[in-house]
Amino acid sequence: MIPKVDLKVVFTRLQEFKNEGKKILGIFPHSLIPDELIYAANAIPVRLILGGDEYAATKGTEYMTQATCPFARGCIGYFDQKVPIYTLIDGLVGGNFCNGDLIASEIITKFFNIPFLKVTFPTTTESFSLKFLQHEYIDFKEKLEQFTGSQITHEKLISTFDKYNTLREAFQKINLQIKNTTSSLKGDDLQNLMHRFLLLGPDEILQFINDLKIENVEQSNNKIPILLSGTGIALGDELIHFIEGFEAIVMINDTWSGIHFYREKLEHDPNDDPMATLAKHYLLKNESSRMVPNVRRLPRVLELIKEYNIKGVIDHILKFCDPYIADYKRFKESLQDAEIPVLQLERDYSTSLEQLKTRIGAFFEMIL
Ligand code: SF4
Repeated sequence: MIPKVDLKVVFTRLQEFKNEGKKILGIFPHSLIPDELIYAANAIPVRLILGGDEYAATKGTEYMTQATCPFARGCIGYFDQKVPIYTLIDGLVGGNFCNGDLIASEIITKFFNIPFLKVTFPTTTESFSLKFLQHEYIDFKEKLEQFTGSQITHEKLISTFDKYNTLREAFQKINLQIKNTTSSLKGDDLQNLMHRFLLLGPDEILQFINDLKIENVEQSNNKIPILLSGTGIALGDELIHFIEGFEAIVMINDTWSGIHFYREKLEHDPNDDPMATLAKHYLLKNESSRMVPNVRRLPRVLELIKEYNIKGVIDHILKFCDPYIADYKRFKESLQDAEIPVLQLERDYSTSLEQLKTRIGAFFEMIL
């Protein structure tokens, strides 16, 4: 079993990075910001993944109304409460991934006096959108170089692409081990690994994965393989652990806190313009539900269901999470048409997991 990331350890490590002269850049976790650029600028990308806490989400309503998702409100709440790791953040990178990103980024930078490195994302995948994003990344690269005082050289960027691809491969292998039902790993373990990566960048996690000893269990288990889709799972939200408390295993976490990072490697040719390469990867391989038209999510989910022999889908929607609310009906009906059992869980952090017990239990009984 892989333990949850210890925030005291994260704080100490980030402080060490700062002492080495590296900037700590906070990023909204599910945006189209390429971590590769930040890492190549000798800075540490820290995804703002804390969540699951009703108190922090309520604190956020001192800055905005309740009509925004609890995750974004919680992000603001954590800055308000001066949560130690967020006090180390030198600059915030945000954009317009969704309503939550747009509002929270503006509020955090304004009220907590944190420099804002803004990137604007297109919502279509047309060729002009690709060009637009490429120019945004060029602009972002210049801002990063100024902010960190480090030049992002072509060589550094290419070696960073390779490093992140190595990490993607490592995560893919672990997910395959979970598919192998004799492995002792579960979806919750993979989530803990992802959270560690999202807070500390690639180096720590690569080392951690290399040192991992994965045990095999003696007999194959008979847990129901589940795909979790929709809103991602913040550090502090125990939903995956709770689901796996039933006779089920979250084989695929199809969210920003799971497979979205590692499903596709970044294909690159050393002779291509790296900014064009990044734009292609982040726009065309975007796995979220934010694009218009939203054409990638459903075929990808159906593909994963087949590949991992999934028996049911849980569609997780945090209240006011606009990209997934918009896909509510279409997603459910398409899965039902394909005769795949689906449970839609709309919740906020004030809903205790115990309150979901009956619905989740009944869903698994229906599958068995
Ligand atoms: S994707 Fe959803 S949960 Fe995440 S910040 Fe945006 S609206 Fe909130």
